[in-house]
Amino acid sequence: MIRTVEHKLTRRDFVKGLAAGLTSAGVLSVSNHSVFGSENKGNAMKDDNLYFIQTVRGGIKPDQLGLTLIHEHVMVDFIGADKVNRNRYDADEVFQVMLPYLKEIRAIGVTGFGDCAPMYLGRDAQLLSRLSEAADMHIIANTGLYKEPYLPQYAFQKSADELANIWIGEMENGIEDTGIKPGFIKIAVNPGSLIPVQQKIVRAAARTSLATGLTIASHTGHGGAAMEALDILEEEGVLPNKFIFVHAGTDTDHDVAKRGAWVEYDNISKEQSGKYMQLITDMLDEGYGDNLLLSQDAGWYNVGQPGGGNIRGYTYLIEEFVPLMKKSGIHQDIIDKLMVANPARALSIRYGSDEAEGVSSPAETEN
Ligand SMILES: [Zn+2]
Repeated sequence: MIRTVEHKLTRRDFVKGLAAGLTSAGVLSVSNHSVFGSENKGNAMKDDNLYFIQTVRGGIKPDQLGLTLIHEHVMVDFIGADKVNRNRYDADEVFQVMLPYLKEIRAIGVTGFGDCAPMYLGRDAQLLSRLSEAADMHIIANTGLYKEPYLPQYAFQKSADELANIWIGEMENGIEDTGIKPGFIKIAVNPGSLIPVQQKIVRAAARTSLATGLTIASHTGHGGAAMEALDILEEEGVLPNKFIFVHAGTDTDHDVAKRGAWVEYDNISKEQSGKYMQLITDMLDEGYGDNLLLSQDAGWYNVGQPGGGNIRGYTYLIEEFVPLMKKSGIHQDIIDKLMVANPARALSIRYGSDEAEGVSSPAETEN
């Protein structure tokens, strides 16, 4: 059952927040339209009352998510699956260090934040929940497994169904003993042809998605690997719009979009602004605006480094890159689509998926 948390963030505050973003950053317009306009061609999502988004503080309506950075990180620990554990960091310190970064983007109108640290790579649902509350931000956590050397031994021994059952269990009962549920599946694949353990992880993700309605975000720096993952999903009966090609920017981006999957340009930075502007323009020119997601892969408190090391803040995309997009002739409606509607559509979970049994209707969960 979805916990129906009383959100501090009411719908009125949410709209006010966006409006504040509009004045301070001067870049976004407030739209009260459904995030699933019937004009979204090639997408089965027509009515947002059929969907919800699972945040670390409970389910929200898709149009409550707002301006969103879909792929960022609060904390990452690269020590490896055999050594990673809660005693390697002080959660209070991480909270103190990272909260100002979240408040900084909240002040410029960001209300949605996808946290992409997978299991065994520094995922801490309790920490995310505390930050979500303190920063007044919809944070979305994930379930799933990454790739070597961040895979636990059991990833090699268990079957796809057994792995899927663990992840489905997190959606049903919460992550570890927190009661906090994941809002998407985060996996990774190796570049090139998929090795057996990664094929199995893609299959497990497919079965989890079918059972729960969760979308699969796959770290995939390689176009062929993305196409192969999509082949497996197709075999398993998962619709391509439940797959996000994370770290796209390859020669197969358009092929992936053509199949109906999400293409995510998630490494946008000052240094790479020209490259991403070109990639975005090309996608829009080909008519793939409905398949495009933007983010920065920024942050994070790096466990093991004093004070979390060098942390990259989350403001660049909204404060500097969006104005550049407008300057290069990208219309405001398109920017709203890329930063508000698309992330909400990508993370939406259909009521009636197995996990949604007993979930109260959106009307009941709304403030
Ligand atoms: Zn990332």
